[in-house]
Amino acid sequence: MFKAFLIKYAEIGIKGKNRYLFEDALVKQIRNGLREVEGTFKVVREQGRIYVFTEGDFDYDETVQALKRVFGIAGICPVVVLEDNGFEDLAKQVVSYMKTMYPELNKTFKVHARRAKKSYPLDSMELNRELGGRILDECPGLKVDVHKPEIYLTVEIRQKIYIYSETIPGPGGMPVGTNGSAMLLLSGGIDSPVAGYMIAKRGVKLEAVYFHAPPYTSERAKQKVVDLAKLVARYSGPIRLHVVNFTDIQLYIYDKCPHDELTIIMRRYMMKIAEEFARKDGSLGLITGESIGQVASQTMQSLACTNEVCTMPVFRPLIGFDKQEILDIALDINTYETSVLPYEDCCTIFVAKHPVTKPNLNIIKRSEQNLQEKIDEMMRMAIETAETIEVQ
Ligand code: ATP
Ligand code: MG
Repeated sequence: MFKAFLIKYAEIGIKGKNRYLFEDALVKQIRNGLREVEGTFKVVREQGRIYVFTEGDFDYDETVQALKRVFGIAGICPVVVLEDNGFEDLAKQVVSYMKTMYPELNKTFKVHARRAKKSYPLDSMELNRELGGRILDECPGLKVDVHKPEIYLTVEIRQKIYIYSETIPGPGGMPVGTNGSAMLLLSGGIDSPVAGYMIAKRGVKLEAVYFHAPPYTSERAKQKVVDLAKLVARYSGPIRLHVVNFTDIQLYIYDKCPHDELTIIMRRYMMKIAEEFARKDGSLGLITGESIGQVASQTMQSLACTNEVCTMPVFRPLIGFDKQEILDIALDINTYETSVLPYEDCCTIFVAKHPVTKPNLNIIKRSEQNLQEKIDEMMRMAIETAETIEVQ
């Protein structure tokens, strides 16, 4: 029955000069999102609106699911497209639409006609009245309410005629590509994919870095991170993922520093390396999945120590979230199942039994002096030998 979708988007950020940027990015992201759906789609921007037209057969549910992953979409209206065969035919089709959509016929409605084709013999006021009358006659049970109708039936007269009344909520946010890019520290855990999703939702393109520690972390653990990047990419679009071999650095820290400080020191080097990649890729910030107090390395003192090495802003969208709230989003965006696969990540192998929970920055810095001899060279090597995977 539906052959097109009207895409509604939020007004925020589309005023003035930004409007075209926003709309172009949204059209581009819709096209990207529909690429994985079977069918032929045409995404068209006309008169301040975006339509998705379908050609031939397509899977309605899959199409709606794909559109629900495109940030910037506030609502998706499935549209019935009719040829203009005169008013009588239109009235019949409108009545049949109402009967199909609302078979219980127990709601209030209002007709909202828009006549873009000025040669149409009835103007919008007349269309509202005539179509409303026809519906009342033929659908006993439906009542008019012009102030707070349950059904808001739009009839747009253009070259063709569009009818719609339902809005499926979109994900909101801003189209990816309208807000620069940031470097996500992506682990195989539950939190970081969610953090990436949340920042992408604000229109930020994602790059990612994963610290791999073979043979302590397996190929499967790495594959899991690639799979997570793929799942996030369904929302964010393609992600360039840098896989850094972190083993030597971890062993070196293990060898030279007090074991209860390992995690903090390791995380400081992760941040430094991530920043190097961010700089190279033109990213303007880092993203992590940290949340205050979740583990020893995420107490206020630990976060302060980790943050101290960063010169770029670090975005921690989960900072005030409880674990359950994070889990709910992970389930919602379909990363949870992959995240809980039991492959070790590099942090679990090198964690101390009793890590410091209130690290003192001066003490940490003093410990790091033990690394002076080789660490710069090791960081340079880690960056140079990183593998880059383009995740689609
Ligand atoms: P997550 O579920 O995202 O792994 P976590 O609760 O396990 O988080 P940590 O292991 O302390 O917490 O990691 C905190 C953050 O540091 C992660 O959210 C992620 O952004 C980053 N991080 C941790 N380990 C890695 C890694 N191996 N590669 C890349 N980033 C990592
Ligand atoms: Mg983790």
